[in-house]
Amino acid sequence: MQDEGGVTAHFTDSVDGGAGLTARGDVLICADGIHSQGRRTFYPDEGPPSWQGVAMWRGAADWPVWLDGESMAIGGGLGGKFVLYPIGPAKDGRQLTNWVVNIRIKDPAISGPPPDNWSRQVPLATVLPHAKRFHVPGMDIEGLVRATPAIFEYPMADRDPLPRWTFGRVTLLGDAAHPMYPVGSNGASQAILDARCIADALAQGEHPRAALWAYEKDRLPKTAEVVRTNRLGGPERVIDEVEKRAPAGFDNIDSVLSHEARKAIVGGYASMAGFSSVPVARKSG
Ligand SMILES: Cc1cc2nc3c(=O)[nH]c(=O)nc-3n(C[C@H](O)[C@H](O)[C@H](O)COP(=O)(O)OP(=O)(O)OC[C@H]3O[C@@H](n4cnc5c(N)ncnc54)[C@H](O)[C@@H]3O)c2cc1C
Repeated sequence: MQDEGGVTAHFTDSVDGGAGLTARGDVLICADGIHSQGRRTFYPDEGPPSWQGVAMWRGAADWPVWLDGESMAIGGGLGGKFVLYPIGPAKDGRQLTNWVVNIRIKDPAISGPPPDNWSRQVPLATVLPHAKRFHVPGMDIEGLVRATPAIFEYPMADRDPLPRWTFGRVTLLGDAAHPMYPVGSNGASQAILDARCIADALAQGEHPRAALWAYEKDRLPKTAEVVRTNRLGGPERVIDEVEKRAPAGFDNIDSVLSHEARKAIVGGYASMAGFSSVPVARKSG
């Protein structure tokens, strides 16, 4: 509920049914994720997130260091992809190693995502046949997946971009505003850019409502573009493009897709997503 002086939000405790709390402030920023209650308040008929049939299984295992211990491998396109990278320090030749398998599912036995639980644990047998399709030199993928104590399934889901996020003193931020396929090191990165932008707008704006509008005007079109580009694979679309042009493989990648063309896809994505190597100035005061 909002008025000329501020906005009041009532929270109920959905876990133990307690009375919850009431808070009043200048603005209400709904950063409550892909199933946002705040978003549902303004778009009650939107329905669940959309899932286009790409499942993602992830896990991490203590494993012998691969290459220099700082390397990442991405193999395959949106239809079937394997990703590998270390997420812990190397010790005694071993390292916590993260892996991801993405598969466009045609198997009717594998259902779509349940509406309330999107990180369910799955048995090894669900993933192993898919993981075994990939080969990364020097890495025993089957061994790594078998050694993983818990494997989780996440659907690759998003929502269509919205026409607006801001309603007076209330706005949306992060996945509540623009849930996207998690490719190209997004969307937590976009949530962080949202936060930077809204903090600056609130610090500089003459009125909280004007600040929220300024934030939306800047961030809504940018994030809508990232949502759309991520549906095509983000920067990793470069892999799909090469696979499409040379389905039987190649000896020289430059003859399939030039360095310039590859750079345009990957570099174009980075600049569109707001990733920049320019140092960010620390503000004081
Ligand atoms: C498998 C996978 C891999 C990913 N990899 C990357 C990556 O490499 N890089 C990247 O940048 N992003 C990645 N993402 C995306 C990233 O996780 C999300 O974009 C990010 O978590 C969004 O942050 P958020 O704060 O907006 O929402 P969330 O992280 O979803 O946080 C929302 C919070 O709100 C709380 N909440 C929900 N409803 C209510 C309510 N009614 N009242 C109060 N609190 C509520 C939730 O409990 C939660 O704590 C990945 C996502 C997935 C699924």
